[in-house]
Amino acid sequence: MPGVHSGNLILVNARHPLTEQRRPLLAPAIPGSGVLLESHAAAMLTGALGRIGALGDIVPVSGWRSRREQQEIWYSTMAESGGEFTRKYVALPGCSEHETGLAIDLALRAEEIDFIRPDFPRDGVCGRFRAIAADYGFIERYPAGKEHITGIAAEPWHFRYVGRPHAHLMAELGLTLEEYVELLRSYPYPGGVLSTESGGYGADIGFTSSYEPSLAPSTPYQVSGNNVDGYILTLWRLPA
Ligand SMILES: [Zn+2]
Repeated sequence: MPGVHSGNLILVNARHPLTEQRRPLLAPAIPGSGVLLESHAAAMLTGALGRIGALGDIVPVSGWRSRREQQEIWYSTMAESGGEFTRKYVALPGCSEHETGLAIDLALRAEEIDFIRPDFPRDGVCGRFRAIAADYGFIERYPAGKEHITGIAAEPWHFRYVGRPHAHLMAELGLTLEEYVELLRSYPYPGGVLSTESGGYGADIGFTSSYEPSLAPSTPYQVSGNNVDGYILTLWRLPA
């Protein structure tokens, strides 16, 4: 199936590795940064940090990683901190969202920043970022209490770009990406759709097994693979 393994909503974890090693179109995570992100995700991150005046106070620590970089991080963390720590905080090469370019680790600016576990508190400027993250399409990807679902320890610094309506739905419903992808299987398009209204943008979301679903002409839509077994369709509702 073409495209199942690409798009903003691909689920990448130990059970669902990245099968394609296509390098995404990359851009600096924020202007002047050496950390790279998929270019649209970078624009959205820059927009979010700009809105709360946090460019400079919140620092991108790690964004896109090649397979080789992920391997190096895995081995060096193993050597420095041991197996238990590494399995908790570092995804296996091929199973890291960082290889998609859609994941970003953020830190509060400090003299010394821990590369594996950067400090990104709940309050202050970091709290302000959390409050608007979904408006810019980002979710906190590894929340506390969901470790048994994500397979990764709580990482309050790791954010994943999924797109605005999906980020809002996941935040409202308290779902991880694993749970959201599963939930959408119960909304097979065109039978049923999950509808959302977030900040004036209405969208109907459903699951489809076809990359080219039959739609009314001129319907604005996006389609993303889920990296498992099909596609997530986002149909934008235009104002009447
Ligand atoms: Zn991360």
